[in-house]
Amino acid sequence: MRIVRYQHASEAPRFGWVQDNLVGELEGSPFGEYRRLDVVYQLGEVRLLAPVIPSKIICVGRNYVAHAKEHNAEVPEVPLLFLKPPSSIINPNDKIILPPQSRQVEHEAELAVVIGKRGRWIALEETNEYILGYTIANDVTARDLQRSDGQWTRAKGFDTFCPFGPWIQTDFDPADALITCHVNGEMRQMASTRDMVFSVRQLIAYASSVMTLEPGDLLLTGTPAGVSPLKSGDVVEVSIEGLGKLANPVEADLEHQPG
Ligand code: MG
Repeated sequence: MRIVRYQHASEAPRFGWVQDNLVGELEGSPFGEYRRLDVVYQLGEVRLLAPVIPSKIICVGRNYVAHAKEHNAEVPEVPLLFLKPPSSIINPNDKIILPPQSRQVEHEAELAVVIGKRGRWIALEETNEYILGYTIANDVTARDLQRSDGQWTRAKGFDTFCPFGPWIQTDFDPADALITCHVNGEMRQMASTRDMVFSVRQLIAYASSVMTLEPGDLLLTGTPAGVSPLKSGDVVEVSIEGLGKLANPVEADLEHQPG
């Protein structure tokens, strides 16, 4: 099933389900009991929102060998975790704003896991029970600030730096799916999730040994090689085989001076 959060006209956002080009409401909660109501809209009649509102966005650095190499970085021996703030979230098709503090903002195409159930110290063989489904994310990064700051909160944390969606696919096998990133139609990244250093199961077990995972939390599983700068006017599209496509335009913030 494909789960969306959608808004029709000025009505309140709702959870829904999508099949082909049709949308129906999901009564109840995707994290508990729910019922699929009848189709009410064509997909084009509603605005798709980021499909969940996570309490935290857990990310993994250097989880593809070729990406670590393109930055002359070692592949970590244990997963390298960092966080993005929920304030960085934008919806599919919303603008990524290039902040005035950075001269090198880059895309990072990533598979994202949506947690379905609260858990801590989740055993490797039980991780699947804690997954609601999968979606597409762009871990937008101010690369120059990532280098100059040392730690990554600012570089990864600007508003608009976490587009994800357009929906959560509940039946998806993350073992060998093709991830691509196109900028203005030109291919920049292409790899398979089988090239991940740490698997989804390993990442969930590891992250949950540090912090409680809550329903709706997002886990970004790292980006493959090919990251490249974005400029104002670009359109960046991340696609994952079986999950669809996440597109966002890019625009410079010309109103503010660096703080
Ligand atoms: Mg990343």
